[in-house]
Amino acid sequence: DRLVAAAAPLTDGALADGHAVPLLANLGSPDEAAGAVALGAEGVGLFRTEFLFLGSSTAPTVESQTASYTALLEAFPGKKVVVRALDAGADKPLSFLNDAHEENPALGLRGLRALRVKEQILRDQLTALAAAQAATTADLWVMAPMVSDAEETEYFVALGRELGLKTVGVMAEVPSLAVLADQVFRSADFVSIGTNDLTQYTLAADRMLGSVASYQDPWHPAVLRLVRALGEAGATAGKPVGICGEAAADPLLAVVLVGLGATTLSMTPAALADVRLELSKYTLEQARALAAAAVDASTASGAREAAEAVAV
Ligand code: PEP
Ligand code: MG
Repeated sequence: DRLVAAAAPLTDGALADGHAVPLLANLGSPDEAAGAVALGAEGVGLFRTEFLFLGSSTAPTVESQTASYTALLEAFPGKKVVVRALDAGADKPLSFLNDAHEENPALGLRGLRALRVKEQILRDQLTALAAAQAATTADLWVMAPMVSDAEETEYFVALGRELGLKTVGVMAEVPSLAVLADQVFRSADFVSIGTNDLTQYTLAADRMLGSVASYQDPWHPAVLRLVRALGEAGATAGKPVGICGEAAADPLLAVVLVGLGATTLSMTPAALADVRLELSKYTLEQARALAAAAVDASTASGAREAAEAVAV
């Protein structure tokens, strides 16, 4: 009957040939977990932790962070939950972390760069995450934002392991990290591509600036080729490459991203249904054909048209 149908679990993300593509949620607070589960999220692909720090003049204690992370993980028993270390700076400055005036804050001391300077803040956050990991059954993965190369990756992975985290990776948001993807996978357990920042930095166009908004298009073949490089390096290393930027919420682009080697897609929960439906129309071979057409284009609109021309 209708009530039973409404309560039935949604199918997991998969291509037409059965190739699984786990569909995960981007969340900004533990309160959003139940809604994401109701929309069929198979886990969390990006948990933004800034809400714990914003609007405060000091960093939250290990105890209060542990309580928040535990509440999040408890909503996903046995499921994958990817938590991002504090991404302060640029559009999200914090008085106790980003103290210098910067002319170009997007190119400044943000993300992991800022945390490394104030390492105790990072240590406290990772310690709280390890405590939540020990207290719950969720499969916790932790990643750093705004990472530039293998040396920064090694720093973060080593610190995460020292503090007891099981699965530690990095976001691919800076083009240099994508160019050096093979080196990054020597230490990272996984990479998650933040297509919002990866597009901003690849096209050198401030994502907050309306006058250059037309450059902020993840269909641009330069961005797609960096995704391809990361996908190939991940496949060679036998390690996952997720997508957690807005690009994953565009159904046709989601197919292209899988064709380029993305192993999971994470998005705003409202987009899950449309992406799940679109993926179900393509085999992996067809997704690869769409991707091959898109990366050969010379503009973002050209890449979309090329993919549409081979779409089912
Ligand atoms: C991204 O840059 O794509 C991303 C997911 O992080 P944010 O949007 O929070 O910068
Ligand atoms: Mg980002």
